[in-house]
Amino acid sequence: MNYETVIGLEVHLQLNTVTKVFCGCSTKFGQKPNSQTCPVCLGLPGSLPVLNETAFLFGIKVALALNCGIQSLIKFDRKNYYYPDLPKNYQISQYDMPLAYNGFVDIPANLTGLPKRIRILRVHLEEDAGKLIHPEREGHSLVDLNRTGIPLLEIVTEPDMNSPQEAYDYLTRLKSILEYLKVSDCDMEKGSLRCDANISIRPSGESKLGTKIELKNMNTFKGVKSSLEYEVKRQATVIDGGEKLFQETRLWDADKMITLSMRSKEEATDYRYFPEPDLVPFSVDKAFIEKIRQRLPELPEAKIRRFMKDYGLSEYDSNVLAGQSEIAEYFERCAQVYENRKAIANWITGDIMAYLKTQGASPADLGVSPESLAALLKMIDKGAISGKMAKEILSEAIETKMAPEKIIADKGLSQISDSGKLEEIVMQVISKNERSVKDYRSGKKNALGYLVGQIMKETKGAANPEIVNRILEKALEARQ
Ligand SMILES: [Zn+2]
Repeated sequence: MNYETVIGLEVHLQLNTVTKVFCGCSTKFGQKPNSQTCPVCLGLPGSLPVLNETAFLFGIKVALALNCGIQSLIKFDRKNYYYPDLPKNYQISQYDMPLAYNGFVDIPANLTGLPKRIRILRVHLEEDAGKLIHPEREGHSLVDLNRTGIPLLEIVTEPDMNSPQEAYDYLTRLKSILEYLKVSDCDMEKGSLRCDANISIRPSGESKLGTKIELKNMNTFKGVKSSLEYEVKRQATVIDGGEKLFQETRLWDADKMITLSMRSKEEATDYRYFPEPDLVPFSVDKAFIEKIRQRLPELPEAKIRRFMKDYGLSEYDSNVLAGQSEIAEYFERCAQVYENRKAIANWITGDIMAYLKTQGASPADLGVSPESLAALLKMIDKGAISGKMAKEILSEAIETKMAPEKIIADKGLSQISDSGKLEEIVMQVISKNERSVKDYRSGKKNALGYLVGQIMKETKGAANPEIVNRILEKALEARQ
């Protein structure tokens, strides 16, 4: 049978505020366990939470960037449950009146083949729980409460995605927007961006939704995509085999590339939500919201359109460059001092991004400034170095953190464009390779490539290929 896939995603984003959402404890990552706690985040009797203004501001920023409506009255609720990583036995969250609602994120056509609007159901602010550590082969678990009370933004979509690829593209665009806003480091490995997925399948044409399966434990966007791909196949096999799916939560095992049943979810958990009595609801001034809206940075979609218009770049290049705010900035700084924007785009989307990806580095770690890259490209244009040499110089500059200009000067690297000198070498190669010369003259034009190769070898790749070709062809024609 043919099935249609229905996917909704829930993202938990740690906001990068300096202090926690309801107390003054530091949010710094990787500190000694339980060293960043106080009576408020430990939930000791008599302590009172105070809302972190920056966390609230970041929440509004995200909500506006995701095209959401903002709640006019901000109210927090208690979500009650018992768990060792939750000392208060409740989490301060937002229930019936989320911070923001009814937004959307557009996935560009360039990524999926078709443009698509993914609706955002709600965005709400809450506090993170602590962390449980289960040391292997030891008969105990450990509790670290440094994470308790770190501000979290929960971003929930409508079930609008119809393939694992669309889910991947949504996450990519969402992350890009969040990085532009600088509200989180969006690092999935550190857990500052976490994603759960809901997936069901139904026979094509059927309007009723199928049985919803919740997926957890995906640590990368690729993991999200792979787990969804696995689930599409698994669920179809179950239904095709005449069996029934039941609502459950499954965990992704990234090593085995399978999902495993964690718990069945026959009824929704009753969290006994009620309004948080220690935080007074407050209304938000419309003028305040508009002020934040006006101060939003240029977001990926607008930047992509501007790159296409201002720099004449393709939609594909613009998407790749504007996808990451730091890359976009690097490109623009380079574009300010060098006219050939397509060449800049090629170098950044090629060699530079490949390097950053393998190293997990950012442009700031590159050691090659946008101005240095522009200088290198200008030297190619002048014929002072070849494209091949420029690639080598760039990779050496990245490795040694030395300015490309200095590498060229130190090594005396420069392309041989002196026709007199090149003519001499061409003549030598011609006299040493009679066979190829004869081949060329008898019409085997590809013999030329071999001869050019010999000249390049002779000059260790430093000969200007255009001049070599011109001299060589002239010499071969003349001596007939
Ligand atoms: Zn605290």
